[in-house]
Amino acid sequence: RELPADPEISNGPRQVVGAAFSWVEPTPVAAPRLVAVSTEVAAMLGVSPDAPDFAAVFSGNARLPGMTGYAMAYGGHQFGNWAGQLGDGRALGLGEVITAHDGRQELQLKGAGRTPYSRGADGRAVLRSSIREFLCSEAMHHLGVPTTRALSLVVTGDEVLRDVMYDGNPALEPGAIVCRVAPSFIRFGSFELPAARNDLDLLRKLADFTIGTHYPAFAGLDGEARYAAFFAEVCERTARLMAHWMRVGFVHGVMNTDNMSILGLTIDYGPYGWVDDFDPDWTPNTTDRAHKRYRFGHQPRVAYWNLQRLAQALSPLFTGVEALQDGLDRYVEVFEATDAAFSAAKLGLVTTREGDEALVADLRGLLTLGGMDMTIFYRDLALLDLDAPHPGVVGAAFYEDEKRVATQEALGAWLQRYAERVRAEASPASERLALMHASNPRYVLRNYLAQQVIDSAEQGDYAPLHELMETLRRPYDEQPGRDHLAGRRPEWARDRVGCSM
Ligand code: AMP
Ligand code: MG
Ligand code: MG
Repeated sequence: RELPADPEISNGPRQVVGAAFSWVEPTPVAAPRLVAVSTEVAAMLGVSPDAPDFAAVFSGNARLPGMTGYAMAYGGHQFGNWAGQLGDGRALGLGEVITAHDGRQELQLKGAGRTPYSRGADGRAVLRSSIREFLCSEAMHHLGVPTTRALSLVVTGDEVLRDVMYDGNPALEPGAIVCRVAPSFIRFGSFELPAARNDLDLLRKLADFTIGTHYPAFAGLDGEARYAAFFAEVCERTARLMAHWMRVGFVHGVMNTDNMSILGLTIDYGPYGWVDDFDPDWTPNTTDRAHKRYRFGHQPRVAYWNLQRLAQALSPLFTGVEALQDGLDRYVEVFEATDAAFSAAKLGLVTTREGDEALVADLRGLLTLGGMDMTIFYRDLALLDLDAPHPGVVGAAFYEDEKRVATQEALGAWLQRYAERVRAEASPASERLALMHASNPRYVLRNYLAQQVIDSAEQGDYAPLHELMETLRRPYDEQPGRDHLAGRRPEWARDRVGCSM
């Protein structure tokens, strides 16, 4: 309400100028039914999933006092090209909750119907993509990765038409709505849109609003210093986020600037994927297979490129470019330092020594060469006998026998080096193992696991979804009886990838 609103009230597709958002109500659905809920998020917000009107409210069919629907305007660079106005085409804000312990939290329905930003699309989401968003945002949170959260997953009782194969044969799929939760959903693209339109008044209002609301520590600074501190902080948070993604093996898949959070959160779970066999060139996004712009190992560079776009958008608020360049430099410093720290922690190294960087780099080369499962390798490395290091300890990480044989010698040599390096640490073994345990998850949302619970859910069985969700709440714990959720990707799932539509 502190930002300029679009005076027009209609869902018709159009360009919205001079406003940060449009008032728009959700389009009702046929028969909303709650199928999954995050108890932690419900507790954070102080809402009860048992309330009789819960599914109605979190599908947009009913509203609680104080709720008013709105869709935000934003633009973005998609796959390197300026795409003009995008905006919340199927996401719809409901308002904010001031929580007891977690500050302000904005509620947003994804798939709640058409908005002025829907362009030709239907404003809806299917069960498949909603399960993926719901599961992954909560899984990321429990891994300790900054992310938007998910309160609920509601099936709508409506069917939605999707052409998944892009072959002109669309099929009907069950519709669903996820309620996303975050302090803010403002993106880099939110600033790019007014900047591209040369609307400096709106750009400044949006920057001041974002700083005042979400970066209050900088609000008292004057003019350029305020914007400089804000940009530097966004750079730092983005750097830490990239280090986290690399730490857990997460590939976002669509790092367009409209999918980059101004709070440094993982946002917009579409065709994301998790690295099984370690491969910096892998992307889960089938529409990006030619250029692989958003491949695993490229993410930190893409984030830098995206921050450059944000810097460009904010540049009218500055007289020179030095402060913005300082922020970008800060990104590089913080990413390198955080990535080095996370990499050391994954190896259980508390201190830093000369040669650590090479140890990590050589390991990444080996993981790639051997096509080893990233999650299993790091988890099992903690079991290494330092007095008699043997490659057999990480044998479960290999997908291909040939590659296992081909890398045995180099792997043996690396493990020897690693064992010596660990012995040079003064810290007790218990401390090292605890560090490794807390840095290397046993359970991640492998793509085929998501697909299996989706297949069951589409048949009406939500038990596998609930079990997977329960498991992913404690990703670093050994969970007896859940080995089937911690193994290598089965062969049949090799080329199955995520889909976001
Ligand atoms: P994404 O690739 O998910 O980041 O979406 C890019 C843009 O397309 C955003 O403006 C979305 O709101 C919009 N969009 C994606 N899917 C739909 C849909 N089913 N209906 C309306 N707009 C959509
Ligand atoms: Mg998006
Ligand atoms: Mg999306």
